[in-house]
Amino acid sequence: MRLKRSLGGPELQLFDPFLLLDEFRSDDAGDYIAGFPDHPHRGFETVTYMLAGRMGHKDNQGNSGLLKPGGAQWMTAGRGIVHSEMPEQEDGLMWGFQLWVNLPAAEKMRAPRYQDIEPEDIPEIDLADGVRVRLVAGDLAGQTGAVRDIAVNPIYWDVHLEAGRTLDEALPTAHNAFIYVYDGTVTLAETRVQTGEMALLSDGDRLAASAAGESGARFLVIAGQPIREQVARYGPFVMNTREEIMQAFQDYQAGRF
Ligand code: FE
Repeated sequence: MRLKRSLGGPELQLFDPFLLLDEFRSDDAGDYIAGFPDHPHRGFETVTYMLAGRMGHKDNQGNSGLLKPGGAQWMTAGRGIVHSEMPEQEDGLMWGFQLWVNLPAAEKMRAPRYQDIEPEDIPEIDLADGVRVRLVAGDLAGQTGAVRDIAVNPIYWDVHLEAGRTLDEALPTAHNAFIYVYDGTVTLAETRVQTGEMALLSDGDRLAASAAGESGARFLVIAGQPIREQVARYGPFVMNTREEIMQAFQDYQAGRF
């Protein structure tokens, strides 16, 4: 599957508690048809948010689901699952994001859990004329996001700004926060953030982001409480120590996931 990786590659391996951010966007089935066949995860959470296309999901514990445009899945892998994520279409646009969120040591071996969110269950708030936010996770303007009870108390907003409009909102001071622009250009203070770019926010308590140019902008605002623990990572396993990674391999190979 063809991906654009902004976080989790050599340039930026970790932005605590976030481990990875991928955008997939293609209307050429050859780029996505292979999907992600069976693979394991342990020790963290994967978050999929779809803008277009349909993605099926199945795991080795009998869970299955279908992600639709505008829908989300927050999967807490915990002690381990083996799953597949496969496109349920043979043509047309497939567009969305996958974010990996770390778990604190105390929750790495918890039972797996899914929060599958239908598109219509994500609150949409019009903060002002031309300023719309879809609340995947995190509170805003007295409303609560669709995803609940996550260790790092995350914010995951999908923001749509019309030309010339600004989102100006408080963010929790202790959180690490970034934006990812997926359409248009956004101005943050003096910085222009273009389509396909991620911008890490400095310490502070507010985000003010404006649509630059004449056609508006769309972007994700993602924030979470840093975990501040040692990270040992190998592919689909994210633990605290090298020994725990070795144990993950042994457990996976012995079919204990
Ligand atoms: Fe996966």
